[in-house]
Amino acid sequence: MMSGTSGRSPIPVRPRHLNLSHRFWAAVAIVMACSLALGLSLIDRHYRDLEANRASLSKLMAFRQVMNAANQISAERGPTNAVLGQEPSSDSPSRRRLRDFRANTDAALERVAASPTLQPRAEQLRRTLARARQQVDGLTAVPFSARSNTEITSAIETMFGVYDATQPLIEAAMSNLLADEPDLVGRALVMRMLGELREYAGRLGSHLVIPIAHGEPMSFARRAAFEQTRGRVLTLWDLARQRIGANPDPAVAAAHEAAVTRFFGEGMALVEQTLAASTTGEFGMTPAQFTDRIVPSFAPLEQLRDAFVTATVADLRARGAAAQNALLAVTAATALALVAELSLLIASQKLLFRPLLKARGRIVALANGEVEEPIASGSMQGEMRSLFEALEALRQRLIERNALDRERAMLTDQLKRQAENDGLTGVLNRGALERLAAGLTETGAGPKRLGLILLDIDHFKAINDGHGHAAGDEVLKETARRLCAALRQDDVIARFGGEEFAILLLDHDSEAPSDIAERLRSALHYPLFRLESGAGIEVTASFGTALRDNRSGAWPELIAAADLALYRAKAEGRNRVVADALT
Ligand code: GH3
Ligand code: MG
Ligand code: MG
Repeated sequence: MMSGTSGRSPIPVRPRHLNLSHRFWAAVAIVMACSLALGLSLIDRHYRDLEANRASLSKLMAFRQVMNAANQISAERGPTNAVLGQEPSSDSPSRRRLRDFRANTDAALERVAASPTLQPRAEQLRRTLARARQQVDGLTAVPFSARSNTEITSAIETMFGVYDATQPLIEAAMSNLLADEPDLVGRALVMRMLGELREYAGRLGSHLVIPIAHGEPMSFARRAAFEQTRGRVLTLWDLARQRIGANPDPAVAAAHEAAVTRFFGEGMALVEQTLAASTTGEFGMTPAQFTDRIVPSFAPLEQLRDAFVTATVADLRARGAAAQNALLAVTAATALALVAELSLLIASQKLLFRPLLKARGRIVALANGEVEEPIASGSMQGEMRSLFEALEALRQRLIERNALDRERAMLTDQLKRQAENDGLTGVLNRGALERLAAGLTETGAGPKRLGLILLDIDHFKAINDGHGHAAGDEVLKETARRLCAALRQDDVIARFGGEEFAILLLDHDSEAPSDIAERLRSALHYPLFRLESGAGIEVTASFGTALRDNRSGAWPELIAAADLALYRAKAEGRNRVVADALT
C-alpha cells in the first residue's frame, strides 16, 4: 500500500452523479424522436401522394376507356352510313366493316362497364345503342328504294343521339377524375374537345351522306345543320389547338401535324367539294365510296386524342414515380438517420462514457494507493488511448515514489534504531534509557515507584587482557543475552557504560529489585562463559539496586543511589548485590 494516505478517507469507487451521460442519452433520444417524427410525416405525405397518384391514374384510365367507347360509337357511324346507302346484303364489305366496328364498340363498352361507378350509365348507353342499331338494321333489311329520305335521316340522327347519350358517362368519368386531380382540368377538357371534334367531323360526313344516298341536292334544313356542325368543328379545333400546341410530347406534335394536313387539309377539302356538289345533287359517288374516302381523314383526330391522353398518362406516371422515389429516399434517409443516431449513442457509451468511468475508477484506485494492477489502453484509440497511457505513466511514477518512500522509511528506522540501541549488544544505549526515564519522571506517567539495578562486570580488564578485546566483546554480548533472558517483560535493560548495564524496573511490586539482581547475578555466574576459542571462563558482576517514588528529579537520585550501592558491592568483595539504604 502507498504511504501518505493514512488519515484521509478513501474516495468512493462509484461516482455519485452520471449527469453528462444521462443528458447525452436524453439529447440523443430527443433527436431520434424528432428524426422519427419528421421522417414519418414525410413518409406519410409521400405515401399519400403515391396512393393519390395511383387512384388518379386508374380514374384517368377509366376516363380514357369512356372516351374510347364514345369514339367507337362515332366511328361505328361510318360503316352504318355506308350500309344505309346500300342494298341489303349480309356479306358486303361495308357490312363486314360494320360488324367489326360494332364489335369494337361492344368491347369498349364492356371495358367501361367493368368500372362499378360507371356500370349503370354504361348499361343505359348499351340499351340506347341497341335500340339505334335495331332501327338501322330494320331499315337496311329492306331494299334501298323502299327506304325513305326521312327514315335514313332518322336512323342517322338516332346514331347521333347514341353519341349524345355518352355525354353523362363522359361527365361522370371526368368529374371522378377531377375530384382528385383538379390540375388535370385543362387536359381533361382538351381530351373531351378532341373526342367531340372527332364526333362532329364524323357528323359533317353523315350530313353529306344523306343527299349522296338519294342523289338529291341538300335540303335547306340539312344545310343549316351542316353549317352548325362545321362551326362547331372549327370552334373546337380553335380551342383545342392552343392547348395542344403547347404540349411538348412528340407523339402529340406528330398527331397534331397529321390532323392539320389530313383532316383539315384533305378531309375538309373533300367535304367542301362534296358540299359544292350537293347544290346540284350530282355527287358522282356512292355513300360507301364517300365513307371510304372521308373516314380515314378522321383517324389523325382519333390519334391526336389518343396521343394527348397517352402523354397525360405518362405525366401522371412520372409524378407517381417521383412520389415513389421521394418515398424511398425519405424512408432510407429516416432509417439512416435513426441508425446513425443509435450508433452515436452506442459509440458514446462504448468509446466515451464507459472508458471515462473506467479511467475515473483507476484514478480513484491510484489515489487510494492501489497501484498493483496495470492500466491497459487495449483497443482504445485517439484521446482515450492517450488518457489511459497517461494514467499508466502516473501509476509507474507512483510505484517509483512508493519504492523511494519505503527506502526512506527503512533508513529512518535504521537511524532511529542506531540512535537508541547499543551497537555491540543490541540493547538500549544509555541516552535512550535516560530519555525514557526522564519522560516517566517528568510526566508522572507509568508506575508510582521506579526501581533501578546497576551492574558492573568484575575484573573485566583482566578478560580483555587475558583473552583479547574480541573475547571481551563476546563476553559483553553474552552478558546482555543472559540478562535479557532472565528479565521480565516490563523490565528495560540498557548498556550504561563500557562493561556496565542498567535495568529500569517498572514493576517492583511482584519482586524486590535486590531479588531480581540476585537472579541476574546467578544467571551470569553459572554456567561458565564459553569463548569462541573453546575456553570457558567465569564471569561475575557486582550489583547495586535502588528504589524511588516516580516524581520529577527522581532519576538523578536513583542513579546516584544505585551507583553508590554498586560501589559498595565492589568494595565488599564483588560478585554480590547491595541494595541502597533507602530501599
Ligand atoms: P572492577 O572489577 O573494578 O570493575 O575491574 P575492571 O577491570 O572491570 O574495571 P576497569 O574500569 O579497570 O576496566 C574496565 C575495562 O573495560 C577497561 C576497558 O578497556 C574495558 N572496556 C570498556 N569498554 C569495552 C568494550 O566495549 N569492549 C572491550 N573488550 N573492553 C571494554
Ligand atoms: Mg566499570
Ligand atoms: Mg568492571
